[in-house]
Amino acid sequence: MKKILVTGGAGFLGSHLCDRLIASQDDVLCVDNFFTGSKRNVAHLVGNSNFELMRHDVTFPLYVEVEQIFNLACPASPVHYQFDPVQTTKTSVHGAINLLGLAKRTNARIFQASTSEVYGDPEIHPQTEDYWGRVNPIGIRSCYDEGKRCAETLFFDYHRQHQLDIKVARIFNTYGPRMHPNDGRVVSNFIVQALQGKDITIFGDGSQSRSFCYVDDLIEGFLLLMKTDLSVTGPVNLGNPGEFTMLQLAELVLALVGGRSKVSFHALPMDDPRQRQPDISIAKSTLGWEPKVSLEDGLGETIAYFRNLLAL
Ligand code: NAD
Ligand code: UDP
Ligand code: UDP
Repeated sequence: MKKILVTGGAGFLGSHLCDRLIASQDDVLCVDNFFTGSKRNVAHLVGNSNFELMRHDVTFPLYVEVEQIFNLACPASPVHYQFDPVQTTKTSVHGAINLLGLAKRTNARIFQASTSEVYGDPEIHPQTEDYWGRVNPIGIRSCYDEGKRCAETLFFDYHRQHQLDIKVARIFNTYGPRMHPNDGRVVSNFIVQALQGKDITIFGDGSQSRSFCYVDDLIEGFLLLMKTDLSVTGPVNLGNPGEFTMLQLAELVLALVGGRSKVSFHALPMDDPRQRQPDISIAKSTLGWEPKVSLEDGLGETIAYFRNLLAL
């Protein structure tokens, strides 16, 4: 049994990670300030003697004794991370400093949930880990993109300077049950709109692309990366290479949900990346990992979740 800290553990990805860790008999400390996460996501774990839930903001120091840390705390959807952009940068940067300080003191292995956003609006396609990215430092996405880039810098400097055992994953768009219904991300928006018979809101002309990974596949990648030996630090891309335009996604969601929603077109947000697709060669060769769940199957599970949630 390992003592494992999960920051952002009451969020979408964090709660699925807590589930998997608890299932493998680990002792989990879930830390969250409930900005975008919710107690409902982990309510089924409360009462389990291996699970502890703590309200805490990672921008403040945290003194606990653990053997491993998964650092997921940070709002992930543009709507939420742009709500209080200064807090978003603080969460990534001060949060990383505090958790790296904690890892240094306790000699814990530490995982960072980084993002494909470090590549910005990329000039190379698909994105490989050695690509440095094209990020606007002063735009409305910068609090998230640059915050996550600086967090990566801190992870690699703590590794070089203090020999910390780090694991950095660059996560590409991931979806599934427990996504926040109002977080503005495309998959949850389209599903909720289709279920409610509202217009499907396409930003721009819908020709921009994303690659969507189902949550169970992603969490498997987290666990495999965390089990690698000391020499593996990442960054490692984790995502599903299947690439779809937003128009294709809208059509698929409409076909799966049925109903009478129409498609409506809206302005494209500033700095919205044109295309995004992970090159997962490193994850395949180092972790023996690749996604297994098709977009159709994953959307089916997600639609069932939202159908149930909206009926409450
Ligand atoms: P989420 O918003 O559901 O989860 C983030 C969690 O962090 C929430 O529970 C929130 O309350 C918590 N949090 C935010 N600020 C905090 C703070 N200062 N202190 C403590 N807790 C705080 O988002 P998610 O999709 O589960 O994302 C989890 C992590 O994965 C994030 O770091 C995100 O950047 C990264 N990521 C996610 C995706 C994706 O597609 N879901 C893609 C790339 C990276
Ligand atoms: N820190 C923490 N928990 C710990 C150890 C450190 O939150 O168990 C925080 C503390 O705020 C500190 C930061 O992590 O400022 C960085 O720690 P480090 O040891 O790298 O630097 P220093 O203590 O010299 O600032
Ligand atoms: N998008 C859209 N309609 C929506 C929400 C998002 O067309 O209702 C687009 C958005 O402009 C972007 C893509 O879908 O091009 C993915 O957006 P999301 O916020 O899910 O993720 P990110 O841009 O961070 O990859």
